[in-house]
Amino acid sequence: MTQTQKTQIRIMRMQGMGYHVIAKELCLKENQVQLFCKTHGLAGDSDLVRLNYPVWCKQNNRCPICGTKIDQPQTGRKKKFCSGRCRTRYCREQKQY
Ligand SMILES: [Zn+2]
Repeated sequence: MTQTQKTQIRIMRMQGMGYHVIAKELCLKENQVQLFCKTHGLAGDSDLVRLNYPVWCKQNNRCPICGTKIDQPQTGRKKKFCSGRCRTRYCREQKQY
């Protein structure tokens, strides 16, 4: 599984898509997608994932787009994304729906 595919899975799960659709779209096996989701806070009912995944990322200091661990600043506002690139990507993907 490539980094791009992993990112796509995150985005598609945040859009409420099921394993089957994602697997088909990315030319992966459904159980590959399922296993990845299980180990990355993306498992369960797609509607719940859509709501809970951003929260899971926040609690675990993970970027919701690429999964990178975020180094939070000691003071000030907490970062939600690892980089401006991921933020832009997130905003763009969300706008489609
Ligand atoms: Zn990122």
